[in-house]
Amino acid sequence: MTVSPVTSTPSTTLDVIPQLVDDLRARFESGATRSIDWRVRQLDGLIRFVEEREAEILAALAADLGKPEMEAYGAEVSYVATDAAHAKKHLRGWMKPERVSSPLVVQPGKSYIVREPLGVVLIISPWNYPFQLLLAPLVGAIAAGNCALLKPSEVAPATSRLIAEHLPRYLDPECVKVVEGGVPETTRLLEQRFDHIFYTGNGKVARIIMSAAANHLTPVTLELGGKSPCIVDASADLDVAAKRIVWGKFFNAGQTCVAPDYVLVEEAVHDALLNRMVAAVRSFYGDDPQKSPDFARVVNARHHARLVGLLEGSGTIACGGQHDVDDRYLAPTILKDVRFDAPVMQEEIFGPILPVISVPHVDAAITHVNRGDKPLALYVFSRKDSVQEKVRDRTSSGGMAINHVWLHLAVPELPFGGVGESGMGAYHGRHSFETFSHRKSVLKKPTQVDPPLLYPPYTESKSKWVKRLL
Ligand code: NAD
Repeated sequence: MTVSPVTSTPSTTLDVIPQLVDDLRARFESGATRSIDWRVRQLDGLIRFVEEREAEILAALAADLGKPEMEAYGAEVSYVATDAAHAKKHLRGWMKPERVSSPLVVQPGKSYIVREPLGVVLIISPWNYPFQLLLAPLVGAIAAGNCALLKPSEVAPATSRLIAEHLPRYLDPECVKVVEGGVPETTRLLEQRFDHIFYTGNGKVARIIMSAAANHLTPVTLELGGKSPCIVDASADLDVAAKRIVWGKFFNAGQTCVAPDYVLVEEAVHDALLNRMVAAVRSFYGDDPQKSPDFARVVNARHHARLVGLLEGSGTIACGGQHDVDDRYLAPTILKDVRFDAPVMQEEIFGPILPVISVPHVDAAITHVNRGDKPLALYVFSRKDSVQEKVRDRTSSGGMAINHVWLHLAVPELPFGGVGESGMGAYHGRHSFETFSHRKSVLKKPTQVDPPLLYPPYTESKSKWVKRLL
């Protein structure tokens, strides 16, 4: 597969950025975004954008990442349309005031929670799923009745261009705007006041986002990454485990925030699992994966050099290792005999390299995982409920899958987000709507009766009553 990258992203002029944000705020304050009709129209527009521009979106993703069509369709194009359709279907229910019980002290009265839009929100996305990770948060933002400023990743320039050029035509252009560019544009954006910042990317930049947000006391959602472990015990169905791990790792050439970063396997089944995984690579991508239409490319030469560098001093190559920078190709690579202090085990790999490490038993795997940062996802393959539950209850991660990898993301009812170093806040399905809404408490009291109980003078009999009621 050859890819034809778009090499530069046109940037938005820095000087217009404050005005764009002011315009969004003025529009929000007009109240135009609050009605359910406006929200549904935006969701419909987003669905129409995806449907009408599908071929161009797939082409942009192929240009940026050499994304195989099926991966681009499943994880980006149809994901966004399905998410928008789900929000549309449930929106009326999500917007309904939520009645809660009222204690005696406020009787007679009614208590309820209304979800109100936050205002003007900023969504900053990364390059690895450059379509989905910008527009799935947008689904939540518009469903909740906000104006949104979108900042796609400059590292995926074809997708950034396509969204900036076409998306506003399908939505209310006064309420959704796109700023293209990289660090200078994002820095200027971060000087403005937003009502929420939703950032997906790495932990280093997340710290910049959070400190800029602190200046305006703006709340943030941080969707970050890290090393997501995969634990395999001796009872696991190794045929299935090998295929699922290899699929989930080499999807998008390993550039997935929830890809299994490394495998910890009980030593009794280490060789058996490794052999099956090597066989799975061959059966998925053939003898020469560079020729496979089903294997994506590394995003750019800088990441390619980083990944090739990680191979040095990181154990023995069980399969793969070939690379070709001109084609941004790095073969699906499985490593064995990897030490915990190897370069490949020091940072999130975020590419098609999978270290497989033998551990004496699952307890040792748990100890290792708990020594590091809390990961975004954790996977366990085992036939034993007791092992599955032990791993679930003795580790902490944003989410987990048992006997599979990252398919938990496809369940709209499950909140998707990190914990600790892997992020804060969550979204997907109703959780996206909640992330972009303020839960406002409302107490409604009638005026026909107005017992003097709470008013001074605080007599002894009032005090007795209050003590009884509270
Ligand atoms: P990236 O380089 O595209 O950066 C992300 C965004 O931050 C871009 O829009 C970029 O313009 C902006 N940015 C970069 N430097 C900045 C700076 N100095 N100041 C302000 N803004 C800046 O993508 P990335 O960070 O390399 O993305 C990869 C990381 O994202 C990985 O760690 C991965 O695990 C994580 N990730 C997490 C999720 C998730 O949903 N939790 C999804 C995908 C990726």
